[in-house]
Amino acid sequence: MVSINVYGIENKQVLPLRLIDDKKEKHVNLLYLQDSHNDNFGHFACTKNLSRLVSSQITRKKNKKFFCDRCLHYFGSCEKLQLHEVDCQKINDCAIRLPSEDDKWLEFGNHCNKERVPLRRPGMYST
Ligand SMILES: [Zn+2]
Repeated sequence: MVSINVYGIENKQVLPLRLIDDKKEKHVNLLYLQDSHNDNFGHFACTKNLSRLVSSQITRKKNKKFFCDRCLHYFGSCEKLQLHEVDCQKINDCAIRLPSEDDKWLEFGNHCNKERVPLRRPGMYST
């Protein structure tokens, strides 16, 4: 058995998209990248070093950060991370947003654009 977490990038931030509940001995972190030319396509990239990827977006300092795989919160020490991981398993709530079981296939809807579409009543522009 291999456990897989999926992460995506939104607004240049790495966000967890799909997280497994219990981490197996073999664990893979995948990064979902949307195709820049076609919204309907995406790529999966295997991220061997997720913490390096995430830390590059948080700090340029050389201090090592310890990342929670589930929610991508980070901590200054391994001990703190281990404490957090226990809570994180229980609460399962610190993740920024988790798709539900019914909604596990991701759609990148651009909701803010939808709202800007003006309401047009029939006949409004007829002369
Ligand atoms: Zn966490």
